[in-house]
Amino acid sequence: LAFVALGLDARRIVRALVHCGYREPTPIQRKVIPLILSGRDVVAMARTGSGKTAAFLVPLIQRIALHPTQCVGVRGLVLSPTRELALQTFKFLCEYAKYARLRAALLIGGESLEAQFAALAQNPEVLVATPGRLLQVLDQVPHFSLKLLEIIVLDEADRLWEGNLASESRRILDMLRGTPQVENVSGLNVAAQTQKVLVSATLPKDLANFSQMVLSSPAFVRL
Ligand code: AMP
Repeated sequence: LAFVALGLDARRIVRALVHCGYREPTPIQRKVIPLILSGRDVVAMARTGSGKTAAFLVPLIQRIALHPTQCVGVRGLVLSPTRELALQTFKFLCEYAKYARLRAALLIGGESLEAQFAALAQNPEVLVATPGRLLQVLDQVPHFSLKLLEIIVLDEADRLWEGNLASESRRILDMLRGTPQVENVSGLNVAAQTQKVLVSATLPKDLANFSQMVLSSPAFVRL
């Protein structure tokens, strides 16, 4: 199967894709999945309808579910510009992670904070979130941090870079950079740098400059 040839685990990952009726990877998936699996930072120019969501979710799930750690903390984060997109992404995540045994939670505005605190109490390994609600929760929940984050995806990054969302997204990324606490967690298999994946239909100048500064020698994928 072509999905297996990209490096995906047959039993825990590809089986779920087959359940979704996916027979073979889309062009963006062929390029992006092996890059994310390799641990590189990636900038992917991809629009809705290209299969972009699976292109980042599937390797994210594999990297986390197939490499358990001793630490308790959020290891993967997908930032979405809107509640609707976050919800849709979360539903795909649950489908794709069906055989991977991954704990995931959705943090979006409009939901009660109590329900989201309860979801966090389950120690999710992966979060799908909108920036505002994530910051609100980070402020209010003691011991909840992003310092163990191994991979972050900025989905529809061009929209994350508009208006208020831009400063919120920057604040979240600032929490990842220069994370000495992480390097000091001795004996634990924790990457010093968070892998960053930026997915966007367009790459406006601001965003291009930003990705130059914050991503480390990213691979660029465009079709
Ligand atoms: P997206 O570009 O992420 O919005 O995905 C568009 C649609 O393509 C979604 O409904 C997915 O379920 C579907 N899809 C994603 N990957 C595949 C695939 N490899 N084969 C068939 N359908 C897919």
